[in-house]
Amino acid sequence: MDRVPPKPKHPESNLQSEEGADSMSTMENQMEPSSVDSIESSQTQPAARQPKYQLGTPVQFVQGVGSQRAPLFEKLGLTRAGDLLFYFPRDYQPPVEIVAFSKLKTDTRVSVVGTVVDREFRGISEGRSMAGVLLQVEGGSVRLKWFNQPYRLENISHGARIQATGVIKMAGFVWEMIHPEYKILEDEEDLSPNKPAPQYSLTEGLLNNHVKRAVHNAVHELADSVDEVLPAATREAAGVLGIATALRQIHIPTTMDEAMAGRKRFIFQELFVLQLALALRKRQKQSGLPAPVLEDNAKIHNRILSRFPFELTSDQRQAIHEVANDMGKNVPMNRLIQGDVGSGKTVVAMYAMLLAVAHGYQAALMAPTEVLARQHARVLGANLKASRVNVELLTGSLSGSERKSVLDSVAMGTTDLVIGTQALLSDQLEFRKLGVVIVDEQHRFGVGQRASLRSGTETQPHYLVLTATPIPRTIAMTLFGDLDVSVLREKPPGRTVTKSYVARHDEMASWWEFVRKQLKQGRQAYVVAPRVEDNEQEESRGAEYWHDRLQREEFANFRVGLLHGRMASSDKDETLRKFNAHELDVLVSTTVIEVGIDVPNAAVMTVMEADRLGLAQLHQLRGRVGRGQHPGYFCVFPRKEIPGVENERLQALTQTQDGFELSEIDFKIRGPGNLMGTKQHGLPPMRIADLSRDAKILEHARKVALQIVAENPELEGEDFRRLKKQVLARYGANLELGDVG
Ligand code: ADP
Ligand code: MG
Repeated sequence: MDRVPPKPKHPESNLQSEEGADSMSTMENQMEPSSVDSIESSQTQPAARQPKYQLGTPVQFVQGVGSQRAPLFEKLGLTRAGDLLFYFPRDYQPPVEIVAFSKLKTDTRVSVVGTVVDREFRGISEGRSMAGVLLQVEGGSVRLKWFNQPYRLENISHGARIQATGVIKMAGFVWEMIHPEYKILEDEEDLSPNKPAPQYSLTEGLLNNHVKRAVHNAVHELADSVDEVLPAATREAAGVLGIATALRQIHIPTTMDEAMAGRKRFIFQELFVLQLALALRKRQKQSGLPAPVLEDNAKIHNRILSRFPFELTSDQRQAIHEVANDMGKNVPMNRLIQGDVGSGKTVVAMYAMLLAVAHGYQAALMAPTEVLARQHARVLGANLKASRVNVELLTGSLSGSERKSVLDSVAMGTTDLVIGTQALLSDQLEFRKLGVVIVDEQHRFGVGQRASLRSGTETQPHYLVLTATPIPRTIAMTLFGDLDVSVLREKPPGRTVTKSYVARHDEMASWWEFVRKQLKQGRQAYVVAPRVEDNEQEESRGAEYWHDRLQREEFANFRVGLLHGRMASSDKDETLRKFNAHELDVLVSTTVIEVGIDVPNAAVMTVMEADRLGLAQLHQLRGRVGRGQHPGYFCVFPRKEIPGVENERLQALTQTQDGFELSEIDFKIRGPGNLMGTKQHGLPPMRIADLSRDAKILEHARKVALQIVAENPELEGEDFRRLKKQVLARYGANLELGDVG
């Protein structure tokens, strides 16, 4: 039995111990386990007892790791002793009772305590072995078994007292536990069975017990050497534990309450650091250059409204009111308009642009795709016909001379409104007097990538983003934590409900028959396939297949086009132009048409293999039909064999047309983390917090963060030194917090 790791011989760690206990700020270790290298040594360390190793000591020297297992720990990202502290359990097994022999019940999880009276090891077959231990408990005996873990017997000696925990079964006439967790009881004090058992994420070859033992050792040695990041006042305001206690409780809880209190501290910390970063960014935006004061008045208001061929909904009026209010101040507007597909967000954007123009300023509108940019330019052009407002389109596909002429007219100020793609972010685009920037479908850009355009003046433009993504409030608060939010809930009047179906494959022929009828009446149709190409293994058919097949068979008498992301952008554009001009009847496409496309004559949509897509995405797709005066029809075909739960999910589409409601349903069925993580949005993933589950803590963290930044915008002072460092280390680059540092 030589599982005890050697005493640290590492030259570096010797050096460190001579200098006294090293310390590591929680910034590095909790949030960035891989960057533990940068260890900060603190001058005064009230070392009550000299730890056997330090936070920065290679993980192999922690008791319970050793040189053999060290590579497995490293695989989990645990290279230094300090990393173990912040390797949080993913779950806990609730405490189990020590059950008396006479009360054992098969297939229950129990704990038994007894003495080892027999040990057995044998080969079962080529390369397979079994290690067994017979435990004498009061009233009888229980057999413990491990397969292919010969070393088990090295740890368990004859006569040892053991507490074994696991699912117990009657095997023949003997009670048996396979692969139980166990603890060797050194003395009576060890006999505390009713503790929750932390469960760690593992890798092949590493058992929960291995990780647990190593982590526990590290906690015993090092919990007191970790620097506290949260100022005392913040901990008090948040009602969370100090770092050392939190570490003990999260890893070695005696009750579930303790475990949860430990977790809460780290969840809070993670969310708090994020909210601080967002609060700092918001503050920075507002304390930079002032924005032009673009006040609204009755004359301007009525003139702009007369450009819209319809009455505004009351949500649109409210949003416009909020936007105009923001733009009338010399602090730059930072607002998100959140509204379901078809709720009429463009109107609000146009209002903001025209308000800027009314004051002699320019406006820019950025769309995520060229297709959408062109569409916006077309709609705006139509609404502004016979006005003196000049609109230009700037995308990547302009020729050199076209591009130059747009750049020139923007620089001279003859162009009032520029609409484009990310091409707008070009350095060469310089405005004469930019008043407002609008970003359509912001979720496609990511949080960090804030459009920053050269405004040509000593002011910075107002900023407005539009999104159709039905983001639950807590997530919006995080992703867009530095923005104010206006919501468009209500749809413009006169919309008919799009009839939605989840169909079986044997109903496909009659569905195509229905589509043909619609086409004959002059409507157009979309057919969406999630993939471009077939996948034989999965019997999956791509958009290319459906295009060829439908053109050849079901829609032989109609004009069928194909659109997908791998096509050249000029080809995409041409296909969409044709569909728009009704030179195509059917458009077979991947989900590239998901965002923003507005062809009012398109009334029917079919989605193949729909279970591959999220509800929110399907809802976005559905929003492409039923936009004009013609009723919309939406039919999805799941893959032939899909689990029932997927069908339940798809059925939700037939039950509601409300994007917010659908995203809640999706969330309930698919569980947290699936709806919308932070990852897709350019922020580092959360380590322990879950934005949906921890909504309450998130709100609290936000409140505390805003308060702190209001009082201490630069996070000055010793109290905040470590906290500030952590905020910058984690979010400085993503959120462009450069100046705060
Ligand atoms: P989205 O919010 O999805 O961007 P749009 O702004 O594209 O929605 O609007 C969808 C359609 O509704 C457009 O054809 C637009 O002209 C129309 N629309 C917008 N507001 C109203 C309104 N108040 N009354 C009638 N139609 C409207
Ligand atoms: Mg839109």
